[in-house]
Amino acid sequence: MAEKSKYTKRSDGRKIEELRPIKAEVGIVPSADGSAMYESGNTRAIAVVRGPRTLHPQHMQNPQKGTLRVNYGMMSFSVWDRIKPGPSRRSQEINKVIEWALAPCIDLAEFPNSVVDVFIQIPQADAGTRVAGINAAAMALAHAGIPMKQMASAVAVGKMDKTLVVDVDKEEEDFEEGEGATDIPLCILSRTQEISLLQLDGKISPEELKEVISMGRKACAEILKIQTAALKKAKDVRGIEK
Ligand code: UDP
Repeated sequence: MAEKSKYTKRSDGRKIEELRPIKAEVGIVPSADGSAMYESGNTRAIAVVRGPRTLHPQHMQNPQKGTLRVNYGMMSFSVWDRIKPGPSRRSQEINKVIEWALAPCIDLAEFPNSVVDVFIQIPQADAGTRVAGINAAAMALAHAGIPMKQMASAVAVGKMDKTLVVDVDKEEEDFEEGEGATDIPLCILSRTQEISLLQLDGKISPEELKEVISMGRKACAEILKIQTAALKKAKDVRGIEK
């Protein structure tokens, strides 16, 4: 008989596939070309978009297509142990994976020699900051009037010992019993339904991974509804294709 999972109850009492309470708002930074906030439980991400504008230095310009540049940072007091401000290996990795997750949403060929800058700040972190950042950034890009081919919605699915759960918080991420915890951030694109981000550094079977993706898809569909509602609420949305 298969061994029972040591993770039987979620730390905050949520159901296995239940997302944390979500808040989403567009246009929170009036001086920016586009901006949005996405909150999942105690994790909050703010995204601000500048551009498209001419990319400098000139030798970095690409006459074929524009560049999407992401700058992610956690604020010093976003977690209890103060974080050293400035770039780190982790933030560099997160910049890259968010760029790759969002790039298929935009037709960069429309902006030769230009850059679209996305600044993501995390004022409060309780795990899942990169996926919250993606959700905020996708809304901010649409709000900036960047023509969007599709939206991006992201969530982190977790494996606590043998139990799969949706939208892990930090307490869950730190679960150490049995096989411990693995978190699997993934991003789903709204039109093509492609996966533009999937990160995993733990042990998982092919069957479990299939289940993770299916749970992630369901959660991202819910998140997309919330992003779309927030965009509709903002009066000056120009970007999203019908
Ligand atoms: N974290 C932290 N200090 C750090 C980096 C991360 O306390 O320097 C916490 C924070 O709550 C973050 C969580 O660890 O959300 C998980 O971080 P991870 O690198 O897995 O990325 P995330 O899940 O935030 O995308």
